[in-house]
Amino acid sequence: MTYESDIIIIGAGVVGLAIAAKVASKNRKVYVLEKNETFGQEISSRNSEVIHAGIYYPPNSLKAKMCVTGNRILYELCEKYGIGHRRLGKLIVATSDKETRALQTLWERGRKNGAESLKLLSKPEMRKLEPNISGIAAIFSPSTGIIDSHALMQCFIARAMEQGAQIAYQSKVIGIEKLTNEYKITVEDRTGKFSFVTRLLINCAGLHSDKVAELAGIDIVRAGYKLHYCKGEYFSVGSGKGSMVKRLIYPVPPPKLTGVGIHITLDLEGRMRLGPSAYYVDSLDYAIGNQHKSFFYNSVKRLLPFIGYDDLEPEMTGIRPKLQEPGGDVKDFVIREESDKSLPGFFNLIGIESPGLTASPAIADYVGSLVKL
Ligand SMILES: Cc1cc2nc3c(=O)[nH]c(=O)nc-3n(C[C@H](O)[C@H](O)[C@H](O)COP(=O)(O)OP(=O)(O)OC[C@H]3O[C@@H](n4cnc5c(N)ncnc54)[C@H](O)[C@@H]3O)c2cc1C
Repeated sequence: MTYESDIIIIGAGVVGLAIAAKVASKNRKVYVLEKNETFGQEISSRNSEVIHAGIYYPPNSLKAKMCVTGNRILYELCEKYGIGHRRLGKLIVATSDKETRALQTLWERGRKNGAESLKLLSKPEMRKLEPNISGIAAIFSPSTGIIDSHALMQCFIARAMEQGAQIAYQSKVIGIEKLTNEYKITVEDRTGKFSFVTRLLINCAGLHSDKVAELAGIDIVRAGYKLHYCKGEYFSVGSGKGSMVKRLIYPVPPPKLTGVGIHITLDLEGRMRLGPSAYYVDSLDYAIGNQHKSFFYNSVKRLLPFIGYDDLEPEMTGIRPKLQEPGGDVKDFVIREESDKSLPGFFNLIGIESPGLTASPAIADYVGSLVKL
């Protein structure tokens, strides 16, 4: 059986769904194909749910631009559609003179990126906001917040379906063949194989997006699309200590920025969580134990002296789809249409790690502006 379509989106994570909501329209046949039983089972449900301000990323990078724009759009969407969120604000806290100098550089970068209303705080100013933390100076980012990412994805789904888009779950894309002016997409579900013919194809396959690009015949090593998995663990903080801080608390990040350092987030119920760590792994294994508990405890006790070792419990893990090799330089998102690889109408979104949740509506606007039918 072969179905006709105008646009196929591979992957029902926050990025694919945001794009579906953007490109769906009554006069287009749009399908989202998802290999899992439902939406958002991979990176989009294993993250910190932070609406980032856009401080860390290299100026003019897609990460910086889309994070700053996405931040603004996300708050608008939250207000308009009643999506759970809180604009808590965040502190990036320096604990040494060296870190205070790094804080200044970060503040300048954040301002260059357009991150909203950043302030450098002295120790007394910082302590006034958060009396229970240690540190000697901080950046205050008032536009950082938290969001119910599940509700955000449900909102994108509702908007896409309202415009006639369809989502096929348990439908894994296993083949991509370029025809003269279209693509033939082979899909496998529980009952067997079937196919779509589509004019445009948008690869939002997250941790598998390099493999999907490869299905279309792209040499992913040559193109610089090969992904490296970087695992992040989270520990929850019990003993009612969630109320000891009111904002998200971050350390000054390490120089090569594999992650942004073990930080302290709060969820919408006020529960405190530490993480994520960042280390490269070879496979998609989400297991977590107590092996890294001491590392977590030592990382945060200099910021949160009230935390005890026994307050920490392993909670969950997520895995980042990194273009950055172990020990290598930071890489930007890849978001491109592949005409120059003789694949016009094929869009690749690869390496959409943090701040991909924040950036998702801005990514959707950008991809939407490239879609010509
Ligand atoms: C530990 C961690 C913390 C993070 N924290 C934040 C944060 O606080 N703020 C923020 O802005 N960002 C954060 N991020 C980044 C953010 O979560 C991601 O950028 C975003 O969720 C990526 O969404 P996605 O749709 O690209 O990927 P996914 O959600 O993984 O979706 C991809 C989908 O494609 C499907 N798929 C793959 N291959 C196929 C195939 N062949 N056929 C059919 N379907 C397929 C998968 O099943 C999956 O559902 C974090 C990420 C991690 C790992």
